[in-house]
Amino acid sequence: MTSYKIALLDGDGIGPEIMAEAVKVLELVGERNNINFELTYGSFGACAYFEHGHAFPEQTKALCDSADAILKGPIGLSHEESKKIPLDMQPERGALLPMRRRYNTFANFRPVFLPKGLAHFSPLKPSIIGEGINFIIIRELVGGLYFGSKETGINEHGKRFVKESLEYDEDQIARIAQVAFETAMKRKKVLHNIHKSNVLKSSVLWNEVIDEIGQDYPEVEIKHILVDAAATYLCLNPGQFDVMVMENMFGDILSDQAGGILGSLGLMPSACIGPDKAYYEPSHGSAPDIAGRSIANPYSMIGSVAMMLEMSFKMEKEAKNCWHAMQSVFSQGYSTPDLSKPGVDVRMIDTQSFGNLVVNELAKLEC
Ligand code: NAD
Repeated sequence: MTSYKIALLDGDGIGPEIMAEAVKVLELVGERNNINFELTYGSFGACAYFEHGHAFPEQTKALCDSADAILKGPIGLSHEESKKIPLDMQPERGALLPMRRRYNTFANFRPVFLPKGLAHFSPLKPSIIGEGINFIIIRELVGGLYFGSKETGINEHGKRFVKESLEYDEDQIARIAQVAFETAMKRKKVLHNIHKSNVLKSSVLWNEVIDEIGQDYPEVEIKHILVDAAATYLCLNPGQFDVMVMENMFGDILSDQAGGILGSLGLMPSACIGPDKAYYEPSHGSAPDIAGRSIANPYSMIGSVAMMLEMSFKMEKEAKNCWHAMQSVFSQGYSTPDLSKPGVDVRMIDTQSFGNLVVNELAKLEC
């Protein structure tokens, strides 16, 4: 019997609620494929800080080091609650960035998908959605402004100052470019490169390297778009995009906007891939505004499981089945509260019911 160790970091806020639904799916996948998923929970984020005095405790590091894959829930607290934790131990600085650095998870895949039949979830008009929304954001995840050098202090005028630098070298850009071109080759062979070269020198180098790597992929058409224009096109004509590649901070911001055009961040799973280790997480945060009310949408967490099945365990068919099961639930008219719109008739369900319905649908599909 094949056995895989999976570290489950359920995190903060809605994390444990949506993780519980993802685990139901994982257990069924294991059972029907005769795979032993060894699931072990670890503490990560604000909960870990309060419990162990560190947002990424040593025991969690050891658990992740020995895991075949990591499934991570969202972490973080509300703006006010965050102040209870020292700045460097706040979840992103104390846990998330160190995890990305530890496993060098440079390639972040964020699929943005809404079939035509579910266009009513989106705030965009059906005429803009057309045949549906279907593109993927490839975000560089361990460089740029979030990982550059930082300095704070008092300047010569006695004023507080802060300095943060956006740093990339050509190898860092080349490896994410290769991932993006390979992805484009498997899709429509069009790559939108998102940049800000009219202002940032980092983008000038970024674009040069994208063009250089592009020479190895002559079949892929490269379209360079300024990040500010890309933000507009996401709302006005998302159908033009298929694969988008961008640096770390642009990816953070545009992928939340992408969640917005789908109708909810709850529809945004992701995969964070490094040379030897991968972790999978929803793109969104811990949603403290709805935590503990059973109204979170677990699609993002179950979608992250589907990505793990495909990318870490090469279980492509079962990954497709998970996506199909979730789409079937929506197609039957069910909706979690985040996706409901005034005037649209849906059968409203809670977090657990969505997970249960997905499991029922999955059980009907051939593996
Ligand atoms: P958020 O992404 O948590 O929430 C933004 C909005 O989307 C909220 O209205 C929330 O209710 C909604 N939402 C998000 N996920 C949802 C889901 N699955 N179902 C239904 N609705 C959902 O952003 P925020 O409120 O700005 O941040 C909250 C905390 O999360 C902060 O501490 C932030 O630092 C952290 N954060 C963590 C990650 C991560 O763990 N990778 C990513 C982003 C933000």
